[in-house]
Amino acid sequence: MSDISQKHTDVLEALAAASKRGKQTELPTLVAVSKVQPDGRIADMLATGQRVYGENRVQEAQTRWGETFADHRAAGLELRLIGPLQTNKAADAIALFDVIETVDREKLLKALVKAVGDDGTMPRLYVQVNTGEEEQKSGVLPADLPAFLKVMRETYGLEPEGLMCIPPADEAASPHFWLLSNLAEDNGVKGLSMGMSGDFEIATEMGATSVRVGSALFGARDYKA
Ligand SMILES: *Cc1c(COP(=O)(O)O)cnc(C)c1O
Repeated sequence: MSDISQKHTDVLEALAAASKRGKQTELPTLVAVSKVQPDGRIADMLATGQRVYGENRVQEAQTRWGETFADHRAAGLELRLIGPLQTNKAADAIALFDVIETVDREKLLKALVKAVGDDGTMPRLYVQVNTGEEEQKSGVLPADLPAFLKVMRETYGLEPEGLMCIPPADEAASPHFWLLSNLAEDNGVKGLSMGMSGDFEIATEMGATSVRVGSALFGARDYKA
């Protein structure tokens, strides 16, 4: 077994155990966050049969999944954008991603609808919520979420598959997961994308429907390489 294969098995087992503790009827979707990881690790992960991948940057994802691993992509992987999206990249993002998890402003909704046009397919969408109300972080503020969802649904005709959050790095994550799941319930949204390497088990116990796991699956990211 490769090191990556072992990590993948370990994470899946932890996910299944947490899902059971949380009395979930369905296992959350495991999104393998492949940003910055070297090709060798990605190839090992693909060999495990892992089918859902998350990326932070449109351009990096285009190189990885549109060129290096284009054959795998064509064979039906699911790709998710989990980093901020600029409006001028909306068309590129629609062409590449099956899911965009970082919808957070009306300008972006407008750009997405325009880029899809009349006959394109809109990716499945998540609304990112800035649960920690951090100045530097993107996401809709919790208090603004009902109005944002109303505009998304009524003005743009788009139904979100879920809500997504990235808790502040220096705080316990569970109050943020709690807040996100309450916001989802209050606003009639089903999906919850929450939990990363350090806290995907807690997130799963609290009802996550998808978890975004990078370093626990691939090993640490080397930003200098
Ligand atoms: C990088 C990233 C992750 C994965 O982080 P790990 O701690 O390596 O699991 C998850 N979600 C988002 C939005 C990220 O940017």
